[in-house]
Amino acid sequence: MKTISLVIPFYNEGDVVFDFFAKLLPIVNEFKQYSFEFVCVDDGSSDDTFVNLSKVNDQRLKIIQLSRNFHKEAALTAGIDFALGDAIIPIDADLQDPPELIAAMLKKWEEGFEVVLAKRKSRLTDTWLKRNSAKWFYKMHNYLADFAIPNDVGDFRLMDRVVVDALKKLSERQRFMKGLFAWVGFRNTVIEYDRLERISGKTKWKGWQLWNLALDGITSFSTLPLRIWSYLGVLFALIAFIYGGWIMLRTLIWGVDLPGYASLFTAILFIGGIQMIGIGVIGEYLGRAYQETKQRPIYVVRKIVNNLH
Ligand code: UDP
Ligand code: MG
Repeated sequence: MKTISLVIPFYNEGDVVFDFFAKLLPIVNEFKQYSFEFVCVDDGSSDDTFVNLSKVNDQRLKIIQLSRNFHKEAALTAGIDFALGDAIIPIDADLQDPPELIAAMLKKWEEGFEVVLAKRKSRLTDTWLKRNSAKWFYKMHNYLADFAIPNDVGDFRLMDRVVVDALKKLSERQRFMKGLFAWVGFRNTVIEYDRLERISGKTKWKGWQLWNLALDGITSFSTLPLRIWSYLGVLFALIAFIYGGWIMLRTLIWGVDLPGYASLFTAILFIGGIQMIGIGVIGEYLGRAYQETKQRPIYVVRKIVNNLH
């Protein structure tokens, strides 16, 4: 019998634990031809998430408790590392990823697809800002990187064991999971769904965290932001050269005139600003390279518990 692993990250989701399993278990128990395991990662919750998880009366639960909050990407990595199934499905704890979709995913998997992506039909549950920033992020990422991250696809997906084994070889510390998932490739297919509202609690992302995630995404898979400065440099030098020539010519023909203070000042500030942006971009990459060289583990496990009620 094939085993399916659901990987579920929990961060301060004490309120949703029971609702989640109340919804999930009847759906999962419908499948007689598969066995399931639920790899729950407690990502350093400070509420009753862990206590509630250990109260869930089901032997298929495996709880990985991390030593502190390592963020969703690391929590997912932990869950995937400990999952033993033939197929792995990361799913959010807040029921925004409808478990009803699992049936359709498994069907596609049986048809031979190694990755089944769940794509949101609409983003109506997101704010205007999140919708648009996400759209622009995908556009920019897919333009810069040499493989595309499919639009409006989250972490909710089914992955075959071969995909997961490939994924495990990507040992980088900056884990932009969507990008890593896409990078490994394999035969993909997409099924669509409506993303629901969170059942309770609130989103764990703060604005700047999404911004950082976006930066991780771009810097993990493209070096164009680094390389572009050489070309900008050449362009500016060329402009300066032409403009210098023009000034020389003008002086020879019409003589010297003094005005030019304002334009000089503006040009200095402009070039200064451009240079600082360039240094900033180098800093982004250097910082990430620095983090990578330290080779710290992606997460630290406090304990692993199997629910054996
Ligand atoms: N999550 C996590 N660690 C974090 C933040 C979030 O494990 O540091 C989990 C969270 O418990 C949930 C999933 O990741 O199961 C998605 O988080 P959230 O609903 O806050 O994100 P959104 O749906 O708003 O993108
Ligand atoms: Mg959510």
